[in-house]
Amino acid sequence: MRDCFEKKRTPFYYYDTELLAETLAAIKRETDKHEGWHLHYAVKACANAKVLQQIQRSGFGADCVSGGEIRACLKNGFRPDDIVFAGVGKADWEITTALESGIGYFNVESIPELGVISDIATNMNKVANVCFRINPDVGAHTHAGITTGLAENKFGIAKEDMIDVIRLSHRLPNIRFVGLHFHIGSQILEMDDFEALCHRINELQDQLEAAGIREVSCINVGGGLGIDYEHPDDAPVPDFKSYFETYAKYLKLRPHQHLHFELGRAVVGQCGSLITRLLYVKQATKKQFAIVDAGMTDLIRPALYGAHHHIENLSSNSPQQLYDIVGPVCESSDTFAKDFPLAEAKRGDLLAIRSAGAYGEIMASQYNCRELPVGYTTEDFLSSSEDMPTADTE
Ligand SMILES: *Cc1c(COP(=O)(O)O)cnc(C)c1O
Repeated sequence: MRDCFEKKRTPFYYYDTELLAETLAAIKRETDKHEGWHLHYAVKACANAKVLQQIQRSGFGADCVSGGEIRACLKNGFRPDDIVFAGVGKADWEITTALESGIGYFNVESIPELGVISDIATNMNKVANVCFRINPDVGAHTHAGITTGLAENKFGIAKEDMIDVIRLSHRLPNIRFVGLHFHIGSQILEMDDFEALCHRINELQDQLEAAGIREVSCINVGGGLGIDYEHPDDAPVPDFKSYFETYAKYLKLRPHQHLHFELGRAVVGQCGSLITRLLYVKQATKKQFAIVDAGMTDLIRPALYGAHHHIENLSSNSPQQLYDIVGPVCESSDTFAKDFPLAEAKRGDLLAIRSAGAYGEIMASQYNCRELPVGYTTEDFLSSSEDMPTADTE
């Protein structure tokens, strides 16, 4: 790929659509074993149009957290009733957009939100399907910034309020209660965390039945499965088997119930790389810096979460040296890696920052008046084959 990459202005995102296809097929293989299991891709991980289209064509629905994401999904072929809509702060226009387009259901995160959806639905003479997002108070072994299922997090409705909220919804004629929604966090690699969620859901289902509430048709367990950032080539396709088997084993679904998943990172994370060019190698007293043309504006995860990404020099096979790999933005946190081993690098080399398909391009900003990075897929390089060097010019 490196020769093709040379033709494009850096930095840019590269999405390996063959790997994406393999990943989607691996998910399908596991979920198709079970009747009534559905996957809604969590669009916030990556909303690149070509990536969305490929995911849609593979038969996935979408999990949106904003009106903008709903629009992006409709534009890229998702059927409205395959879209679900979560988020703690849904604005009126977003609720209206969702009702107008006829999405599958809302994942409602508070009582005030339920009231507003009810009012808007009544005015529009529509019925809104709702799942309640319940905060399961289950911890996850992940970064504090991305746990969402603890009582102290801002997400969802306290589990103690679950029954009252459902009863309240029964009194609202333009609201139809369809189920329960959960999401405990992101980049979770311990199957125990998902198992704990299953046990909590089983408890809550028992409580509902004891209270005579039997119309829960949908259990949505969110997403959160992590990927291997250290060794992207060892596990290009995440361990979906263990993940889905955990739910099959521990979650006690009632016969009529559908199980919905909302994976984001695990679907697209390993398929994307941020391709950047080395501008300067700068020798400092204690370090050498590899200064690249991508910055925290293109990929903010290292600056925001201290996230680790594997980085490789695509242009060199020389022995490795240690570099601090940094961007050009005027912030010290604009650092991709410290003391990272890289094949000896020189000005002009192309570097790949791996595992950047999720929460990469979509989080890009224009700080320092920088341009947003472009996202290319494998097909973009195949289709422009006319301007590639032919074998005899190489
Ligand atoms: C972010 C999010 C997801 C996806 O999380 P991943 O860790 O990327 O799988 C799923 N559901 C909800 C409600 C989310 O906010």
